[in-house]
Amino acid sequence: MNLILLGAPGAGKGTQATKIAERYGLIHISTGDIFRANIKNGTEIGKLAKSYIDKGELVPDEVTCAIVKDRLTWEDVAKSNGYLLDGFPRNLFQAEELDKFAKLDGVVNINIDFKLLMDRLCGRRVCKECGESYHVSTLNGATTCARCGGELYQRKDDNPETVGSRLKVYEEQTAPLIDYYTKKGIILNVTGTEAPAEVLFEQVKALLDDLAKRA
Ligand code: ADP
Ligand code: ZN
Repeated sequence: MNLILLGAPGAGKGTQATKIAERYGLIHISTGDIFRANIKNGTEIGKLAKSYIDKGELVPDEVTCAIVKDRLTWEDVAKSNGYLLDGFPRNLFQAEELDKFAKLDGVVNINIDFKLLMDRLCGRRVCKECGESYHVSTLNGATTCARCGGELYQRKDDNPETVGSRLKVYEEQTAPLIDYYTKKGIILNVTGTEAPAEVLFEQVKALLDDLAKRA
């Protein structure tokens, strides 16, 4: 089962992705995580990506598509039940490229009220070790991950100005993909809320259990 996870920044893609990958035995591929790992390791790709990410703009398509195309050829993907793309594709060009080398079964689209996103993203703290996300308002001053004890940090692009650009890029470039995949008949819509991630995952699970049965 090969899936895409669509949703605005802050919709909760990362958290859902971890849960989906675990339940269905899929390889979780996040282009944002790949870029951040490259930045941390000081690679050429990292240096290039950083200049775009810091401004809330998209990393150029050629670079991003090449990374994903290569990643899908790794052995872990061949040995798994499929993959889950998180954060890719992000515009129509990437979606059309992906169609050339991938066979998709479903696109989970997390719809969420835009008003919630600015606060969610600017208050987000992420675990350095396992990637789990938290919101400052629920941490009670804790600085480590409840799941693995890792140190929590704030992503450099989670500041009001960069978040503003990211949301604009989402509306202009990524949101049209909902229509693109709806026309292909593979969209699975769920509604994100302020409720805990487990509540949203119940919706996701119902749709994907059904898809897995038909696959
Ligand atoms: P979020 O969904 O919270 O914005 P991501 O971790 O998915 O976070 O992405 C962080 C940044 O990485 C994006 O703002 C963008 O600059 C870059 N990026 C991630 N995926 C892509 C992609 N598919 N195409 C271009 N840039 C990307
Ligand atoms: Zn952790």
